[in-house]
Amino acid sequence: KDVDLSNPEVVRYIVNRFGLRMNKKLGQNFLVRHSVVDDIADAADLAEGDPVLEIGPGIGTLSQALAETGAEVTAVELDERLLPVLDKTLEHYPNVHIIHGDIMRIDIEEVMHHKPFTVCANLPYYITTPIIMKLLEEHLPIEKIVVMVQREVAQRMVSGPGSKIYGALSVSVQYYTEPHLLFEIPPKAFMPAPEVTSAVVSLDVRKVPPVQVKEEQRFFQVVKAAFSQRRKTFANTLKAAGLSKEQVCMILEASEIDGGRRGETFTLDEFAKVADAWTALAA
Ligand code: SAM
Repeated sequence: KDVDLSNPEVVRYIVNRFGLRMNKKLGQNFLVRHSVVDDIADAADLAEGDPVLEIGPGIGTLSQALAETGAEVTAVELDERLLPVLDKTLEHYPNVHIIHGDIMRIDIEEVMHHKPFTVCANLPYYITTPIIMKLLEEHLPIEKIVVMVQREVAQRMVSGPGSKIYGALSVSVQYYTEPHLLFEIPPKAFMPAPEVTSAVVSLDVRKVPPVQVKEEQRFFQVVKAAFSQRRKTFANTLKAAGLSKEQVCMILEASEIDGGRRGETFTLDEFAKVADAWTALAA
């Protein structure tokens, strides 16, 4: 077995040897707890030869655990300075492929050779939501996404109507996936320690959405409107989205929804009903 990249002394040695300075802006907090790294890789449930996409390998800690399963690891790292480090730390793993690039800009499907894949990553926290939304909205052939995020973001992903933290992210994640909050990780499992507690979520991508809508775009337009001004009534958020008073009345009547409610109390099914009524009206 190769040297353990989750060992704090090993990480410290690598950081010194390469003269690395952690870039806070890029969300560079490296894992230094073996059990956590193993638990994340285990949650991805990989078998020999399975393609897995890692976002932000850092110095290669999680990549190593993923590679140990025999999976084919493709890891996309933005920070150029880490490339020579990864070359060295993962030199004995022919099943790891490092790509230099920005996950928000690369063509993920092409990088993954148009085959179904799993995503497993300790995400950079400054762009967690954009990354998750990109993975979901591009309708990529993803089977499962296992990611470490801020605990608060993980809680939003799994929260339901009526909860203070239920929002557009909750609806999107629950529309595309079945989310599970797996476990929490204290700041001291990282170097340097972040200010927040982290959590690992597993998003099992659905084959069929939990609600059927005529136009997906319309559904997300309604969701966005409902949560962009949380204190407004739902009827008023629809008006703010560009509908006339009459149109709003017709949509609410057709979908049998009380427009005096707040959007944050709506189930996915109710959002779908409104979206379909709007689509019908616009036709
Ligand atoms: N996987 C390592 C670990 O668990 O120790 C490092 C995780 S660290 C939280 C996030 C990593 O994502 C950093 O290595 C950072 O340079 C990288 N990163 C930040 N923004 C990125 C982007 N847009 N595309 C790809 N990688 C990015």
